[in-house]
Amino acid sequence: MNDPVQKPVREIRINPIVPSESVLIATARSMRPKKAEEPAPRDTRAHVETCPFCAGNEHMTPPVIAAYPAEKNWEIRIVENLYPVLGDDRSNPNLSFGMQQTIDGYGRHEVMIDHNQHGVAIHEMSEAHLALLFSVYRDRMEQLYRSNSRLRYVLVFKNFGPAAGASIAHTHSQVIAMPVIPDNVQAEVTNSHAFHRKNHHCIFCSLIDEALTFEATIYDRESGEIRRKINVGQYVIERVGKFIAIKPFASRYEWEVHILPLQHQSDFLRISREDLDDLARVMRRTMARLDAVLGGAQYNYFLHSLPHDADFEDCEASYHWHIEITPRTSIPSGFELGSGLFVNTVAPEAAAEKLRAVVLD
Ligand SMILES: [Zn+2]
Ligand SMILES: [Zn+2]
Ligand SMILES: [Zn+2]
Repeated sequence: MNDPVQKPVREIRINPIVPSESVLIATARSMRPKKAEEPAPRDTRAHVETCPFCAGNEHMTPPVIAAYPAEKNWEIRIVENLYPVLGDDRSNPNLSFGMQQTIDGYGRHEVMIDHNQHGVAIHEMSEAHLALLFSVYRDRMEQLYRSNSRLRYVLVFKNFGPAAGASIAHTHSQVIAMPVIPDNVQAEVTNSHAFHRKNHHCIFCSLIDEALTFEATIYDRESGEIRRKINVGQYVIERVGKFIAIKPFASRYEWEVHILPLQHQSDFLRISREDLDDLARVMRRTMARLDAVLGGAQYNYFLHSLPHDADFEDCEASYHWHIEITPRTSIPSGFELGSGLFVNTVAPEAAAEKLRAVVLD
């Protein structure tokens, strides 16, 4: 009855890896930001006559880059992006004028059609298919890094559902190879490197250890009341083989979940064949939990891995690749945009409990 988890929480939590990315956890109703307009329900049809990404409509897509297992009976297809945010065009050389600095928009932007069925969700795909999808991510990232040394970061991400900014309903991921390291990756890599120098430990490994073994009760010094109870596994959503899905203590999004390899690995490109199967399983199960709790999850997810860049050669021991899943259940308000502080209205402990409680077959 007196479960401390259920008490209203109002506190600023510091992201242990990137302290500038902190979050205000405020479960009181008055803090609830405007809910995103009830999003259009996601398109669950298997085949859509007019969809360029559907099987049979291959002639409607931009040129194909690769298809798996083959173009004739493809399950996953990589095509050029019709509206690339970065491109080959070198007609925009670096130009600087006063305070106006630019780097030319050189890069690659490709679409991975995740599945030949139109509206299939990640948790509805087979684990064998998901393992293939992750191997396609890995192989394409590797090819892009090798293709040009000007490409400093290759970002793979997925927008699913209109609430997450997906402009095409057919399930797809995107890969963007860019000439700069994204700020958030840069912050993760440099901060974890500083932590490692000081503690001789990977901060991500430490967070995993803490999630698996930590147990503590924090009391109010004056009243003696329990302020927070940290239980073993309180932040663990799933543990499958060599992977773990964790609800971050300082989650920016209500239903944010991170997936990490249990054993230290800095570069996603080193993932082994067998580990792809475990990753597929932990991903499918985590997405099934999110989908069940949210009644149809619309989300973004993205892969953070050590940049292939000379600047980060000594970060192998300190950086730890991961996938961040960020379901979209509310839209940022002026407070969030103005302060840079995310507001999360569901206590991460309560969210984790709900996600764990879902019964999966
Ligand atoms: Zn389609
Ligand atoms: Zn690690
Ligand atoms: Zn990250």
